Amino acid sequence: MRAKDSATLGFYAEEAETYAGRNREADQARLERFARLLPAGGQVLELGCGGGQDSAALIARGFDVTPTDGSPELAAQAALRLGRPVQVLLFEDLAASAAYDGIWANACLLHVPRQALPAIIAQVHAALRPGGAFYASFKAGETEGRDRFGRYYNYPPATWLRETYGAGLWHSLEITEELGGGYDREPTRWLHALAIKIS
Ligand code: SAM
Repeated sequence: MRAKDSATLGFYAEEAETYAGRNREADQARLERFARLLPAGGQVLELGCGGGQDSAALIARGFDVTPTDGSPELAAQAALRLGRPVQVLLFEDLAASAAYDGIWANACLLHVPRQALPAIIAQVHAALRPGGAFYASFKAGETEGRDRFGRYYNYPPATWLRETYGAGLWHSLEITEELGGGYDREPTRWLHALAIKIS
């Protein structure tokens, strides 16, 4: 099962400049919580970095950040913001092993088809060092679907997400729900998942 959705990546290709340039501020409180779980100067991988705002915030905190995105167009936009190369990396091509202290995946794994998500979470788990931190956010729901832009979303309930992360692999897994918004300006129930890999 492919983890990428062509219509979703097509949207980001078309909208890259507008999407990256929108007025989006990094969630400093959430980033700070994640940062406190990492060693000073630790290695952080960002998946689906979009315009690169969160990578910029992590770089500013002194981490050795690898920003990536599956869309070449958005990777180019992030590279402009960050002033450094941004790797084009599809989630399914993540092949690192125990290479990162932290993996940050804000609002991007929500585009992975449900059937493909367990394998991607397993790849993330493998890429983390023991004790490493993994943050990801999802739009909550019950069934898979698309938004008015044609982007695919897995829209999981928290119970399904917890099962998908897998038992026995994580020292802790905290999933919290908060109301928020998105590029579609719709009120959105967000799931924020913060997991620590078992040591
Ligand atoms: N993380 C950024 C943020 O919070 O602003 C961007 C979030 S945007 C909703 C989703 C991002 O995931 C886009 O940058 C998109 O290109 C990327 N993406 C979608 N499918 C992907 C895939 N299969 N592999 C890697 N990146 C993907």
